[in-house]
Amino acid sequence: MKLKLKSAFCNFDKNSIKFRLWVYFIIFATLLMLVLWFLQIFFLNNYYQEMKISAITQLAQEISDEYGSDDFSEKVLEESAKNDIFIHVENTDGTVIYTPSNDTGRRFSYMYVKEMGMVKNELAKTGSKRISLIIPEPGTEANTLAYARILDDKAESWTVLYIFSPLYPVTSTVDILTVQLGYVTVISLVLACLISFYLSRRISKPIRKITENAEELAVGNYGIIFQGGAYSEIKNLADTLTYVSLQLEKADTQQKDLIANVSHDLRTPLTMVKSYAEMIRDLSGDNPEKRKAHLQVIIDEADRLNLLVNDLLMLSRMQSGVVTVSKERIELGSLTRSIVASYDILAEQDGYVFETDCDGEFPVFADEQRIRQVISNLVNNAVKYCGEDKKIRISLKEKHGNIRCEVADNGMGIAPEELDRVWNRYYKASTNHVRTTSGTGLGLSIVREILCLHGAEYGVESTPGEGSTFWFELEKCKQ
Ligand code: ADP
Repeated sequence: MKLKLKSAFCNFDKNSIKFRLWVYFIIFATLLMLVLWFLQIFFLNNYYQEMKISAITQLAQEISDEYGSDDFSEKVLEESAKNDIFIHVENTDGTVIYTPSNDTGRRFSYMYVKEMGMVKNELAKTGSKRISLIIPEPGTEANTLAYARILDDKAESWTVLYIFSPLYPVTSTVDILTVQLGYVTVISLVLACLISFYLSRRISKPIRKITENAEELAVGNYGIIFQGGAYSEIKNLADTLTYVSLQLEKADTQQKDLIANVSHDLRTPLTMVKSYAEMIRDLSGDNPEKRKAHLQVIIDEADRLNLLVNDLLMLSRMQSGVVTVSKERIELGSLTRSIVASYDILAEQDGYVFETDCDGEFPVFADEQRIRQVISNLVNNAVKYCGEDKKIRISLKEKHGNIRCEVADNGMGIAPEELDRVWNRYYKASTNHVRTTSGTGLGLSIVREILCLHGAEYGVESTPGEGSTFWFELEKCKQ
């Protein structure tokens, strides 16, 4: 038991939502109760008197409006019965204009003789048109509210309206209220506890769930969907964390794919190098012709390895922001023509046909080396994936103030659903199952990175079976 208590005390967190909410609710309920107590108990008496005075003043106004009318007496009688008051109208010379003629009236006139005298004196002393006095009744806790108002001051002797009303003691009411407020205080404190407990549970439950999920994320279980519950703020947090978790999962998969692809791509040429080296050692070492051919394979594979490592390095440097582009005014026309010229040997030896449409001047603001790499990669791909006709078209044209470069072929094309993905690292369209020996699977990723660094638009249009057109647009240099 002792241990349990101790551990509960250790787990107690004074910064927890539960505790804080409870404290705020209790403070709120206590303040509310204090205000109520204060108002009811200290101000009730004053409040009651003020209310009474204002009601009597209003009534006096109504009576004074009726003064002179035929049903004046009726009206006054009705009001005095309704409000438990005594009304008397008298001239300053002592002529009684109105006084209740019934028994109650007579009783009242007898009751308020002293008060009448006091209020008359006060009216004469102050010289004001209306006064109200609270006169204590000796021997009781009750008071009398005495009100006087001049109805007519035109003639020599003025007509004055007197109203007397008993003010009952509020002590008994205050006592009842005190007991009632005691109950209300206890009930409201209990309710505050219950509501704060319920609310804090409702708010902290989804947060606790999010924390649990985040702990799983921390140990590498990416792709977790965070549940946010019903509150918008917590739901937003959960959605953001879900997004982060999915992004992490994507990055993780990409990283694993990358390692798998790189190791696969490295292993193939390495196996070839090893096998051919063994072949030279065991078989062709003495045969100069075979040895030369086998050594050539080794050299080619080493070149391929070199290419792969260079591409990987370049891509990772670009993606980590190490590589920047140094833009200057370059002539895209002559650059394209010089790149195409370097493919002459392919045209001569393997029958590729390079059609160009890039005569003229196409000044752009770009990094020459990087753009050279973009065009070379696109032309390389076109050579790799072109159709039987081995035709590749390279064109430059001006479009809406930009220079658009297009590299097209009549090859097998790319399926529409794969068009977006060809720019991803190591992505291979399903139509091109066998990776050509010269491809690293990084060419288009590098193209994308370079073009992004230039802020250039780029894209691909392709019809399966008919060919593809890869394009990019650079802003035309004005001067
Ligand atoms: P690689 O060509 O080394 O595989 P890339 O990044 O250059 O890598 O290209 C990615 C994929 O896009 C290729 O594997 C291929 O499936 C597809 N692709 C690229 N260019 C073309 C093209 N001109 N025609 C058809 N498919 C292409």
